[in-house]
Amino acid sequence: MKILVVDDSASVRGQVKELLSKSVPGVEIQTANNGIETLSLAEKFLPDMIIMDVQMPGMNGYEALRVLKSRERTREIPVIFLTGTYREEEDLITGLELGAVDYVMKPIQEKIFMARVKVMLRLKEAQEGIRRLSLHDPLTECFNRRFLMKRLSEEFNRGARNHHPVSGIMLDLDHFKQLNDAYGHDVGDQVLVKVANILKLSMREYDVLARYGGEEFFILLPQTDLENAIKMAERIRSLIQSVRIEAGERQLSVTASFGVAGYSGEETPDNPEHLLKQADIALYRAKENGRNRVEVFRPEQG
Ligand code: GH3
Ligand code: MG
Ligand code: MG
Repeated sequence: MKILVVDDSASVRGQVKELLSKSVPGVEIQTANNGIETLSLAEKFLPDMIIMDVQMPGMNGYEALRVLKSRERTREIPVIFLTGTYREEEDLITGLELGAVDYVMKPIQEKIFMARVKVMLRLKEAQEGIRRLSLHDPLTECFNRRFLMKRLSEEFNRGARNHHPVSGIMLDLDHFKQLNDAYGHDVGDQVLVKVANILKLSMREYDVLARYGGEEFFILLPQTDLENAIKMAERIRSLIQSVRIEAGERQLSVTASFGVAGYSGEETPDNPEHLLKQADIALYRAKENGRNRVEVFRPEQG
């Protein structure tokens, strides 16, 4: 858990910090003493929660909250306000409407303060769980298709703006139905997990791996040209082929077919789904040409 504590009074910062360290196991705390500093720290530190004074010189808490809510990276961070004076109802409502999740009066009553912080942290954790579920495939823990589509358009926009290449690899396990039929669905599942792990280990940090369908995966490769994407696909193909997967007494092996497509960055198309379609066309050809192989979509081939 990461918490950002903001107050222009050093003694309040110290008190809150001490309370949190005492009561939240493993908490990581950073502090800021004004609104401006809060904005830059929130972007860098990406806290799970911000506890922030309302009245501060320069930019006050309300103004800082308004900016936090307008930025993609900080929008979801819950903010608890610390308020020194009794606030008019109107004022409280303004803060809540801006997106503050709670108010705590100063001087801080320790037990009540901690109880409220803990409720908010639990809520945050539950939200994270839901968010994870909505973006990941539960079996392989890869991203799901929904997340892939979102990242695909982001990377296409970025690629078009900066003239960076974008490539993608679509892969599908060969004769997976036979494997399921011969060893059962559970073994099939284990194989899927194992393959996903091989893929994860083969990727760079900023590549995006998604389970695209049942036994089909897609790897989005930002800032990678077609030739490098082909090399990567070939490397993964040979790795999957060489791995032995334990299934009870047996050792299984599995192969996959690959379709690769890419854009140089000079002619990034408007619709990022073209990349998926083209990789899929190449994958189809890999199946037709005997499986366990890499085929490439070349624009001149339509
Ligand atoms: P090809 O080489 O042409 O791709 O043949 P295939 O048998 O792999 O392809 P097909 O599309 O005919 O069958 C895919 C199989 O993948 C059928 C389905 O039961 C299995 N499958 C899909 N999702 C899962 C899953 O989550 N777990 C398991 N165990 N099997 C799955
Ligand atoms: Mg298949
Ligand atoms: Mg398939």
